[in-house]
This record gives sequence, structure tokens and C-alpha cells, in this order.
Amino acid sequence: MKKINLISTGGTIACVPTENGLAPGLTARELLDLLPGDYSEVSCLDLFSMDSSNIQPEEWVTIAEAVRSCIGKCDGVVLTHGTDTMAYTASMLSFMLAGIPIPVVLTGAQFPAAYPDSDGRRNLENALIAANSLTGGVYICFGNSLMLGCRAVKTRTTSLNAFESINYPYVGTVSDGRMFTLYNPVLPSGFNFSTDIDANVALIKLIPGMSPHMLDLLPDCDIHGVVVEGFGLGGMHSIRRNHLEAIRRLMEKGIPVVLTSQCLYEQSSPDIYEVSRPLRDLGIISAGDMTTEAAITKLMWVLGRTKNMQVVRMLMQKNLVGELTELG
Ligand code: ASP
Repeated sequence: MKKINLISTGGTIACVPTENGLAPGLTARELLDLLPGDYSEVSCLDLFSMDSSNIQPEEWVTIAEAVRSCIGKCDGVVLTHGTDTMAYTASMLSFMLAGIPIPVVLTGAQFPAAYPDSDGRRNLENALIAANSLTGGVYICFGNSLMLGCRAVKTRTTSLNAFESINYPYVGTVSDGRMFTLYNPVLPSGFNFSTDIDANVALIKLIPGMSPHMLDLLPDCDIHGVVVEGFGLGGMHSIRRNHLEAIRRLMEKGIPVVLTSQCLYEQSSPDIYEVSRPLRDLGIISAGDMTTEAAITKLMWVLGRTKNMQVVRMLMQKNLVGELTELG
């Protein structure tokens, strides 16, 4: 086994029963001690003991710095994390740690690792095996599936196969103590560590009849960038309640608007339908086939670099860490 560091942040995997319900309580070492094998060589760091519903941009920065400090000291990192926001953390770490030369493998569980039938012990073992086999990059290992972190989405609340790789091949499977590679992602080479982000980003999911006034309120809420989940390929109301005009007003105020889809699979595009063509002319930024989690965290990361609309558009529509299939 290579030298692996285990960083714990909480989540169900580390939960113990309390009077008020399940709460993270186990340390990284206590998690390892639940596994059948000998993992005494794995170094442990207890970073947080949090339900991932409380993991926010401040924690992303702390996690990224903790992972960076592992470079040169170990061959891979396993990060235990609650499943509820794991896809956001994995996406943000993919940008903050772009080109990281060691693997960072996030995992967690649907049931506390100390429970007899928990998936947590298998998930942790599989993540350790994946970290031992992979080279660089940020991944989620859950169940037997290994996926690129910026392509993963939590799609099930309780089933053991809680995560799916969206619009991207699975990187591998882990079973019987071995990792089998299914796909080698093309990842950036030079390590570019950057935790400067602008978290003042909003996600708006359109519903039929939604007032465009909601979009107009965003600048007063100090929002600097917006991701809009449109209908299907990215349609939105243009009659009675004109979302297109509200988006024009946002863009005129220098607030970039990124168009994504309410559909989980396949890409969004303003190019196809009459209802959304004007969005293209307004300069709306297409999220292509990025997950909503990747589009949001990428927009935060890009806005931490620049507020120049042209540069924001260029970076959002460029594949940086495997999050986007660029159309030719
Ligand atoms: N509420 C938990 C969390 O995200 C759920 C889990 O870990 O599965 O921290």
C-alpha cells in the first residue's frame, strides 16, 4: 500500500446516535479501526465533524488547504464527507486543486459505518484502494463506482448507489480489493492551486409562472453571478412573464448568467428553439453538459478570478478540469 492520508470531515459515515438524531462523532482513526484490514500506516487528520449540509465555501477553502499540505508527504488522500453536498465539494476541489499530482478520493456512506449493515466500511475500503491506484485528480468513490469529482451528482437519498457520473464515463470500479480502470480522464497537468472564489452566486430553477421579478431582486441580494436552470434545453418564458428581459437587465448590470437545464442528462443550449434564441443574442453563457453543481462552483471560482464578462464567458465555456465537453 502506498502512503495514504485520511482526512475526515463528518457526514453519515462518521455518525453516532445522539438524543437529537444522528450526528458525526467518529474520528478518522476510529473509522479505519472499523475496517477488517490493517490500516495503521494510513495517516489521519480530523478536519471537521460536520453534517455536510453545513459545509460551505469557508470549509471548501480549509479542505483544499489541508489537501495541498499533503502533497509531497503522501501518495494519495481519502476524504470522508457527508453525501448531501459531496458533489459540490468534489466539484469545487476540482477547480481549487486543478492539476493536483496526487489523487483525492471523496467517499461517505448512506448509513453510519459502525452499523452492522452499513455501506460505510466498504466505501472507505474502496476509496483507499482507489487512492492507492490512481494518479492525480479529484474523484468520488461510492459503492463500487469511481467517478470524476466534477461529474458526480447525488441522485438517490437512501440507496447505496447514491451517486452517478453525469455525461461522463465512469473512471473505474472497485471490487474484491482491486480497482479496474474503465476510462482515463484527460486532466490538466501543471498544479494550479487557487482558493480565491466569489461565493455570491445564485441558482434559480424556473417554474411555470415564475415572476421575472425574482431575477430582478438578485442584484439587491449582492449576487454577482447567476445560474439559471431552464426547461429542457434551456427554454424560459417569453410571454406574459418575460424572463428574457430580466436576464438582459442582469447582464446589463454586469452580472453573468449561465444557462443550464433542469434535465440531469445531456447538454443545454439556447440555439435550438425560438423561445431561447434571444438568450444567445443576449450573451447568456451556456453550461453545456456541466452538472449544476459544477456550473455553480465553477462560476464561483471564475468570479474569484475576474468580473470581466468576456473572460467569464470564455472560462465558463472552456473545459478546465474535465467538467465540460467542449463542442467543436
Ligand atoms: N446528512 C448527511 C451529510 O451529508 C448525509 C450523508 O452523509 O449521507 O452529512
